[in-house]
Amino acid sequence: MANQNSTKNLVCPFCSLHCDDIQVKTNGKKYNVVENISCRKKIESYNINRHSNTYPLMKNKIISLSDAIKKIKDIVNSHKEILILNHGIELSGLRSILNFASQHNSIIDHINSKYLFQNIGVVQRTGYIATSLTETKNRADTIIVIGNKIFDKSPRLIDKVLLPKHSLCSNKNNRNVILIGNFPIKIQKEIKNRCKLTNIKIDLDLVPDLLKNLQKEKGKAIKGVSANTEIKLKNIISKSKYLVTTWAASDFMKNKKPEIIINSICGYIVNLNQTQRAACMPISGSLADVTSSQAMTWMTGFPSRIKHVSNSFKHDRESYDSENLISKKNVDLVLHISTISPDKIEINKKIKNIVIGHPNSTFTNQPDIFIPVGIPGIDYEGIMFRTDNVVSVALKDVRNISLPNSQSILDKLA
Ligand code: SF4
Repeated sequence: MANQNSTKNLVCPFCSLHCDDIQVKTNGKKYNVVENISCRKKIESYNINRHSNTYPLMKNKIISLSDAIKKIKDIVNSHKEILILNHGIELSGLRSILNFASQHNSIIDHINSKYLFQNIGVVQRTGYIATSLTETKNRADTIIVIGNKIFDKSPRLIDKVLLPKHSLCSNKNNRNVILIGNFPIKIQKEIKNRCKLTNIKIDLDLVPDLLKNLQKEKGKAIKGVSANTEIKLKNIISKSKYLVTTWAASDFMKNKKPEIIINSICGYIVNLNQTQRAACMPISGSLADVTSSQAMTWMTGFPSRIKHVSNSFKHDRESYDSENLISKKNVDLVLHISTISPDKIEINKKIKNIVIGHPNSTFTNQPDIFIPVGIPGIDYEGIMFRTDNVVSVALKDVRNISLPNSQSILDKLA
């Protein structure tokens, strides 16, 4: 628990980079980020405000925690098919989700698992070569960023990995950053001021064609890429000693064939390795996606979309897809677990909905029961996995607003 007006270290739970260099001033209830970092507003938005709910609610009526638990138990016992929808939780909470599911033969899905399966599909079908954030920060001399919203989702990617102040990279001012997609002018300027920038503004559906051209003497014309730009790119890439390509699968979801884009990037990197060193660094979603897929895989053998049946967990990518299950009403109760998400939780009024979520959670419709819980890394300690899977971070607590954690609630419900 924080002392009056003390300075505490915060390990950020709000995206898969999990920055551990943040300090906050806290009086035990409210916290403020000390340095003017780009995520300051985002982190401080989880402070309690006049819209926060710190008491359990049944529809819009405040009820006691013990009543809320009792009501949920009644609902759980009277429903046949329960879906637990993970909107982001740390490791201990995830263990409790699995325990609950095993007691009630429930289905579990993560809200971002569609993105996870895009990347996993490549690993299963064609293979890929990956690197870590640290290796990229210290060794990469050329970094290709493909997408459009990747810096919105992981705002400190530039400061912490692409162009950090301190790194082992001997010529970091000569680092080449190649942006492929549609990036805001502000981002382009920020990068241009600190290294050599090449900006290729193209429709992301054309990425496979562009990468094909880079491996040929002469390829077909691509809208937005001149012959001179292609020559420039080939020149940078051929001189590179360590090239890293990064993307967020969610950036491709609106494109015609996201898996073809990811396949083409991974295939390109595999081919480059015949003559030089290159690797992929996909950035996963910001809702503890990696924590979920890692822990689910150790404990059940599957990364997501599972159901407890006859004493074991079964996986089916189609049958246990939460979007389909909810829209087709193939489940009659959804238990939403949301400890870090800033997004409005979609509530389908035609089925029962229970939300165990942080106090600033918002909904498209009021759920049947809402229990506010603490945020890992803000209200209680926990473990989360970084996007590159090689580091598990220990989250700390920086305030005490007397909320239970999701693990304790789930264990009471199991
Ligand atoms: S980049 Fe991600 S982990 Fe780092 S401070 Fe911002 S939201 Fe938090």
